Amino acid sequence: RARWRRAVALLREFEDGCATPPARLRQVVDAMVVEMHAGLASDGGSKLKMLLTFVDALPTGNEEGIYYYAIDLGGTNFRVLRVEVGAGSVVISRKVEHEPIPEELTKEHGPCTLNNALMVGLKHHLLMVAAQYPDSCLVPLLARAVVLELLFLFLMLFFPPFGHLSEVVHFTALVNDTVGTLALGHYHDEDTVAAVIIGAGTNACYIERTDAIIKCGEHGMGQFLVITFAENSYDISLDDETQNRNDQGFEKMISGIYLGEIARLVLHRMALESDVFSDAADSLSVPFTLSTPLLAAIAIREDDSPDLSEVKRILQEHLRIPGTPLKTRRLVVKVCDIVTRRAARLAAAGIVGILKKLGRDGSGVASTGRTRSQPRRTVVAIEGGLYQGYPVFREYLDEALVEILGEEVAQTVNDTVGTLALGHYHDEDTVAAVIIG
Ligand code: ADP
Repeated sequence: RARWRRAVALLREFEDGCATPPARLRQVVDAMVVEMHAGLASDGGSKLKMLLTFVDALPTGNEEGIYYYAIDLGGTNFRVLRVEVGAGSVVISRKVEHEPIPEELTKEHGPCTLNNALMVGLKHHLLMVAAQYPDSCLVPLLARAVVLELLFLFLMLFFPPFGHLSEVVHFTALVNDTVGTLALGHYHDEDTVAAVIIGAGTNACYIERTDAIIKCGEHGMGQFLVITFAENSYDISLDDETQNRNDQGFEKMISGIYLGEIARLVLHRMALESDVFSDAADSLSVPFTLSTPLLAAIAIREDDSPDLSEVKRILQEHLRIPGTPLKTRRLVVKVCDIVTRRAARLAAAGIVGILKKLGRDGSGVASTGRTRSQPRRTVVAIEGGLYQGYPVFREYLDEALVEILGEEVAQTVNDTVGTLALGHYHDEDTVAAVIIG
């Protein structure tokens, strides 16, 4: 009994450590705005790297008969996309092929097949090109065109259906996936002002006025946001396991790669310090054995499955913990729920940070102090495997948006789910897009 009480005490402690009351979320919003200003002022001025993408226009939905190809090398998936569009925001045809990136590659060890080695080679090549020209805005564009040609060759080699040589192909842009999502969001709805990816990693971009950007220059991929948000002992343990220690702490509380692992760390400690998992501490000791899709499957609402039989099955089959009693299964569900809720609420605060910077959070004045914000419709395009695949995460995110913004303002914010887009832009009003990369 005493040992069961220990498990419950650990749960309570974890829950308290992950608490995100609205006042705390508003602090995150404000910290984010401060960091965004600092990041726009100078490179290295903030831990939040504000990377610039110069976009002269975004699609309006009037484009017609154009084929777009996009290649996306993400944290867990490699995707190739082909789209044909018609006037009036009509997508005539859309074909996506995707290939999971083998885990041994994302962890940078283990065997490499020829195909995989090529992908790794390409990624390194991109980084080298970016590193070669750190301070110039122009030359890299040329280098990028060359990289795009290489990518296209790669595409034709490995994805023959996409290699329609007869079509005239123009290499248009090499952009961060957030910018692609912003473009697609804008194609469907011109009120789209920001895009957020919540997948294996977390990243966002928004449209900024050029006069708000003090620095000039562009660099490679970076982090989403680091702010001093209380990390608990599990966050710190998780950080220790990663290759980028002391970096991207905020992202590590939100993104798909990490959520399952945070829950596993909590369950492992419970296994060590109580008897709730009998002698399953060893099964729970292996890093990254609880993936985020599994966490999502566990964190189901109890009213959907009163005996939590699916949780029992997952624990047995995936984590080799057989015969768990119902109260233990409830404990596991609760842990997964706490991790999910904190992640979704922090993601919501990050989004409101961007809205506040844009003067669209309903607080009255844009953070520059110059423009009075009008209550107007605002669309944020949100994409990514975690957001799309995990409905409970979306519910928590929406709930937190309402808590931070208030019901009235939250109604003016719409989120749309987009997919990767690349390409051809026409809208004179858009002056720049900034990646918080
Ligand atoms: P990337 O493009 O960087 O590879 P994705 O946007 O494809 O990332 O997102 C993949 C991530 O989304 C996975 O790492 C996983 O953690 C998470 N994910 C995918 N499906 C689900 C799901 N059904 N429930 C919860 N998380 C999911």
